[in-house]
Amino acid sequence: MSATVSFQGIGASPGVAVGHAFVLDARRVRTPKVKLTKSELEGEVLRFKTAIELSDRQLEELKTRLDSDGQEHGMILEAHRMMLHDPMFLVEVTRLIKEDLINAEWAVRRVGKRLRHQFDNLEDEYFRERKSDIEFVADRLVRNLMGEVVDQELEVPPHAIVCAHDISPADAAMLVRSGSIGAFVTDLGGHTSHTAIVARAREVPAVVGLGKACESIRNGDMVAVDGRRGLVLVNPTEEQLALFRETMRRQLQTEQLALKTAELPAVTSDGVRVRLNGNMEFPEEIPSLLAHGAEGIGLYRTEFLFLNRALPPTEEEHFDSYKQVLQAMGDRPVTIRTLDLGGDKVPGKKADKETNPAMGLRAIRYCLAHRELFRVQLRALLRASAFGNLRVMFPLVSSISELREARSELEACRSELSRQGVPVGKRFPIGIMVETPSAAWIADRLAQEADFFSIGTNDLIQYSLAIDRQNRDVAYLYRPLHLAILRSLDAIISAAKKANIPVAMCGEMAGDAGLTMVLLALGLEEFSMTAGQIPMVKNVIRQMSRKDAMVVLEQAMAFSSAEEIERFIKADVERRFNQGELMGTTVPRNGDG
Ligand code: PEP
Ligand code: MG
Repeated sequence: MSATVSFQGIGASPGVAVGHAFVLDARRVRTPKVKLTKSELEGEVLRFKTAIELSDRQLEELKTRLDSDGQEHGMILEAHRMMLHDPMFLVEVTRLIKEDLINAEWAVRRVGKRLRHQFDNLEDEYFRERKSDIEFVADRLVRNLMGEVVDQELEVPPHAIVCAHDISPADAAMLVRSGSIGAFVTDLGGHTSHTAIVARAREVPAVVGLGKACESIRNGDMVAVDGRRGLVLVNPTEEQLALFRETMRRQLQTEQLALKTAELPAVTSDGVRVRLNGNMEFPEEIPSLLAHGAEGIGLYRTEFLFLNRALPPTEEEHFDSYKQVLQAMGDRPVTIRTLDLGGDKVPGKKADKETNPAMGLRAIRYCLAHRELFRVQLRALLRASAFGNLRVMFPLVSSISELREARSELEACRSELSRQGVPVGKRFPIGIMVETPSAAWIADRLAQEADFFSIGTNDLIQYSLAIDRQNRDVAYLYRPLHLAILRSLDAIISAAKKANIPVAMCGEMAGDAGLTMVLLALGLEEFSMTAGQIPMVKNVIRQMSRKDAMVVLEQAMAFSSAEEIERFIKADVERRFNQGELMGTTVPRNGDG
């Protein structure tokens, strides 16, 4: 038997899987370089245009084919179609063909490379990841120009661990459609790469960003994957295999149990009714959220919609997405967060590099500084509000003036639409994310003017404890149970209750079942998290009484260090639930800054 090798990557989609490797052929298409004569130019431009049309048709067909099986990837494939028709891309390729007298394949590659470089220096992981979209689009064009076969159906054996340098959205779509993929393992990619997003939406374990691991994995190798820890074992020992299989068995049991309880209400044993909502980035996640028992959407990160492309979306495109989500959710509340963009997170523009982007012009600050862009989104939200139960919230509010400014911009858009005779829904609640220490300190005042709060612990912890959430070196200081955080949460929740406005939490802390007891004790009654986290949190809520939770928290808060508080809470959770694994899943999300 071959020696065991282990690789550490980024845990992109939780879950454990064991199976035989299916290595996707990572061969890149070779791009021929040909110098043309002047008389060939016209024909070459025509060849390029034909390849664009063919690629567009293929993407449309693929989208239709996949739509009938579920609605995965619609947006991603649509984004690829838009890239194909991006005027800048078309003009540049044509110019290169004509001015440099080169063949279309070569020109496509050169323009693609230039575009990719623009993404290289971006701080944000999500935007950096969009580089691979350009590569996939360029690949398709080059293959079509060369008359190669594209979008071939892949015959993958059941439960295979699909290993690849990178996986195109088209391939990922076809693979998950078969419904029997064991896991995804890729060398490239981060938390927000396509494979990661698709894997999470379909609950397929995935580890990405493995560097060069896939080069050494052979077809048929036994591979064990832990998608939470980002661990991949190639040719594991019998003992390791047994451990992984046991975890898989327990996971399956928990998941089955969880799905059975999806319809049960989240009520504590002493009768406190808690609302469990879902966090989402793409409309494709809605079916999975509903299947796991989400009662509404607590956070829709709209910047993902905005940025999956070279040009900003139009009002119509914003509107279509919001309407789609609102309609899919029916009467259930849908909380849409306005764009959380940062200074250097706008593709297509070379923004000034900020020395400290997390504290720079991002989120509501960015929107208030770019009113045109903000108004496009606000108008779309107002129009979409007629189609469901909308709530809108502003991110990173750090002063009362920002809330007032944002509200008045929204009202200005409302009046404008009504002057133009455009139908708008009824008034809807307008809230804020409480995710800065300043907002926590003036929560009582903000509560007078906001219709609801949603606590963003990812940023609240980052700013309160002065820890860059993207910096691995200080990740050990990222402590949700730091006394400063507990006191902050207490102040925010109490201020909201006193003012009689709803308060929710949508940061990662809300989805950590090991901390549910703490949040219940603090009086939180609305949680928002990813689909997979809902059942476990609900399970804790249904077995716990708030009264007991309050006693435990009071004792815990008598300690001064985060380590002591964590130890105390962990021991209590283990005693009650006999599941030490519940603890410690709260990690800062990378990528959203
Ligand atoms: C947060 O900060 O907790 C949050 C939910 O927002 P994001 O992770 O998108 O910054
Ligand atoms: Mg945030």
